[in-house]
Amino acid sequence: MPKSKNIILKGVSASVGIIVGRAFVLDEDDFCLIYREIPKNRIENEKKRFDNAIEKTRQELKEVYNKVNNVLGEDYAHITNAHILILDDPSMKKNVYNLIEYGTNAEYALFKTIDKIIRSFDAIKDGYFKERKLDVQEIGKKILANLFGKQKRNYANLKENSIVVAHNLTPTDTVAIREKLVKGFVTDIGGKTSHTAIIAQGLGIPAVAGLKVASSKIRTGDMIILDGNAGEVILNPSDEVLEKYQKYYDRQHEEIEELRKLKDLPIETLDKHTTSIFANIDNSDEVSHALNSGAKGIGLYRTEFMYFNRNTLPSEQEHFEEYYKVVREMSEYTTTIRTIDLGGDKFAKFGLLNVSTEQNPFLGLRAIRLCLKYPDVFITQLRGILRASAFGKIRIMYPMISSIEELRSANKILQDVKQDLRESNIKFDEDIQVGTMIEIPSAAVITDIIAKEVDFVSIGTNDLIQYTLAVDRGNENVVNIYDPTHPAVLRLIKQIIDSAHKENIEVAMCGEMAGDPLYTPILLGFGLDEFSVSPFQVLKIKKIIRSMSFKEVKEIADKILQCGDKKSISKIMSTLTRQ
Ligand code: PEP
Ligand code: MG
Repeated sequence: MPKSKNIILKGVSASVGIIVGRAFVLDEDDFCLIYREIPKNRIENEKKRFDNAIEKTRQELKEVYNKVNNVLGEDYAHITNAHILILDDPSMKKNVYNLIEYGTNAEYALFKTIDKIIRSFDAIKDGYFKERKLDVQEIGKKILANLFGKQKRNYANLKENSIVVAHNLTPTDTVAIREKLVKGFVTDIGGKTSHTAIIAQGLGIPAVAGLKVASSKIRTGDMIILDGNAGEVILNPSDEVLEKYQKYYDRQHEEIEELRKLKDLPIETLDKHTTSIFANIDNSDEVSHALNSGAKGIGLYRTEFMYFNRNTLPSEQEHFEEYYKVVREMSEYTTTIRTIDLGGDKFAKFGLLNVSTEQNPFLGLRAIRLCLKYPDVFITQLRGILRASAFGKIRIMYPMISSIEELRSANKILQDVKQDLRESNIKFDEDIQVGTMIEIPSAAVITDIIAKEVDFVSIGTNDLIQYTLAVDRGNENVVNIYDPTHPAVLRLIKQIIDSAHKENIEVAMCGEMAGDPLYTPILLGFGLDEFSVSPFQVLKIKKIIRSMSFKEVKEIADKILQCGDKKSISKIMSTLTRQ
């Protein structure tokens, strides 16, 4: 049967650009749990499969134990022993065996058994049992993964130059995939500022998220048009539609060539007000791209990506070498190294850092909270950063600060690390600047207090919007509520900028809002000092800044602050973009 042509799937624009290519659909890594009847003569074999999965899981837990023990010591490592105890629980094994003897397949028998244990914990209203429930769930998943014989997604068959289609892509997936030079991403779930979207923007490839049914409708090998500008995908395009898109594509290239002419021109408004444009990166390979884009510094280096797709925590030497490479290449320009922001949707699996079982990970043990709980992990990174600071201009930035006490605790550890280095005669920049991200409303409200104890602040709008509006940044069902121009968000941004300026502190913005040309005039009008954006956006933002009058955008930004609803804000904003 001939395939239907021009099937339009609508989602959310996660990264701009248009691309035509063949799809590669990544398998979902959730397991399909179905009941299968096991014939009598296969029952012993089924029990053996279960025993083998238990043994494999035991080996994995022992490896985790050793790693954690080496890095953080026995006090932390013993948590893994609690998992091994669950694995050895005779009643669990008995229950699974019983079900298998009735002819149930091992996967389903395990699922039923774990479900039964969890339900019994639910009946007990005690915090301790709530925690144990999560442990049992985690172990159940590990055994199941081994029973299914698949642990991770397999990227081996992924062809270069394909468009990856998946139900969901975690940042860990995207890091593995990017080595394959894919042309674009398409996902069923996610929104504009999910970390997968941010990685696509960093790679300069188009992406559409929140398509809901893409991974079930599209098959590997299908021809698709990925329109990251409109946030849609066209499946099996006809020749006429392909031709139309080829024209868009050519125009896109002409625009890029035009922008390149701005690279060496100053970043200033028509009335000579100057600002900075820095770049966001997430690994050292992106530095040359950032410099080529005309960025005059790195405003956000997301270091947590170093922790993905590996089995051990990065050592101090690895941190040092990575940062050394970056600062040498950046030469006289500043590099802002953000300490790790693991947690939320950025999981890393090292036993302890495996925080993926939290019920509300974005409100959980994330970023600086994780570093303060596991200071050895933090200290290792800080030593690497400080050592590299002897070779170039580095600023340290803490993510997810929510109170002055957290900032002070982080700074206290930093002071101790500096003292240790001095005592060992290891060189570092004694004047290294330290700043914090403002991405939690509580921090935004006390920017005046924070500004007295830091050298700079950087507004993380991706999280600031999420936490201010109580809207999950990665959830496609609520993208319409995720609004950078909500009056509460705009007022908070203005308040942060004014409070920091009163303390003579510069204010950067490194969330995606800084890189969206729609918001450049208003942020400029608010007095933002530094835009830190994906390298692909640097020249687009520069073009807008160079076309604006600072005096006028300031007046209009003031008017916007008086507005209480979306409609009046959009009306005024449209006059700004027309200037
Ligand atoms: C932010 O929250 O705006 C930000 C820049 O940090 P991340 O996107 O890594 O959470
Ligand atoms: Mg953030």
